[in-house]
Amino acid sequence: MKQTKTIESYRCDFCGKECEHTEYVLPTISQNVVKEGNIATFYNDIEPVQCDLCEACQKKVHFGIQLSRMAILNDDGELELNKDLY
Ligand SMILES: [Zn+2]
Repeated sequence: MKQTKTIESYRCDFCGKECEHTEYVLPTISQNVVKEGNIATFYNDIEPVQCDLCEACQKKVHFGIQLSRMAILNDDGELELNKDLY
């Protein structure tokens, strides 16, 4: 009986390079559509998404998280630098 060997490989979800499988879960914006009658309304939602990340992209994501700690959302939902930190 012929045996087959399955080799699993993963690609980085950010840059596409081959990488190890990782269990990182990142908040990701998805676009959802709600239909009421003939009217379709699009809205963005944030949902947790599992990502495989290479070592370089893990460092980039970490850097992005550090930057996000310096930002706040204003009343209009826009990002601003948190002036209380400076
Ligand atoms: Zn990568």
